[in-house]
Amino acid sequence: MKINTAEFVISNSEVSKCPKDPLPEYAFIGRSNVGKSSLINMLTNHKSLAKTSSKPGKTQLINHFKINNNWFLVDLPGYGYAKVSKKSKEVFQQFVTDYFEKREQLVCAFVLIDIRLEAQKIDLEFFTYLGVTEVPFCIIFTKADKVGKTRIHSHIEAYRKQVLASGWEEMPQHFITSATEATGKDELLSFIDEINQE
Ligand code: GDP
Repeated sequence: MKINTAEFVISNSEVSKCPKDPLPEYAFIGRSNVGKSSLINMLTNHKSLAKTSSKPGKTQLINHFKINNNWFLVDLPGYGYAKVSKKSKEVFQQFVTDYFEKREQLVCAFVLIDIRLEAQKIDLEFFTYLGVTEVPFCIIFTKADKVGKTRIHSHIEAYRKQVLASGWEEMPQHFITSATEATGKDELLSFIDEINQE
């Protein structure tokens, strides 16, 4: 799939105010600074559709972008800046959990993970939350250019072991991307295209 049009539609903090269009939507979420804005800009061929920011943890909203008049790309707030998290829910704003629990148009969530890092507790907790909530999700590894090509496989393998140790039977479907080198884009857009055509 080629992205011809990417149009900002609305930002808000209430699921009930999200667009009413029955278009399929795909949500992007991850810890602050994971490279989410850069990835969204790379996917949509925009320099600044999603604002890249050096200020981690800044207040964010649910942002809907209409792609090719055919599906929504949803940019969700970054998470992970609460110092203590007794329950994973506490580190997500209520409207984010509302989004996952109520938004019927949501087809798949993409959880972004910095490929250089070991599995973080908050991310593993979030995978569990999505599993319990029955939200289909994939992992997008970001910043692959920061890891030598020959080491990418061993990083993913180490991550897979940690995901399995946290209770999953298999590693979720995953994509390897670099916004800097514009890699992983075709795989990701083809995946979305195939679901949209089902
Ligand atoms: P966000 O907070 O998740 O939206 O992250 P940003 O997109 O603002 O990126 C955070 C930082 O990581 C910025 O300094 C980006 O330039 C850098 N960054 C993002 N993606 C990549 C990537 O693919 N490769 C490299 N080397 N740096 C990246």
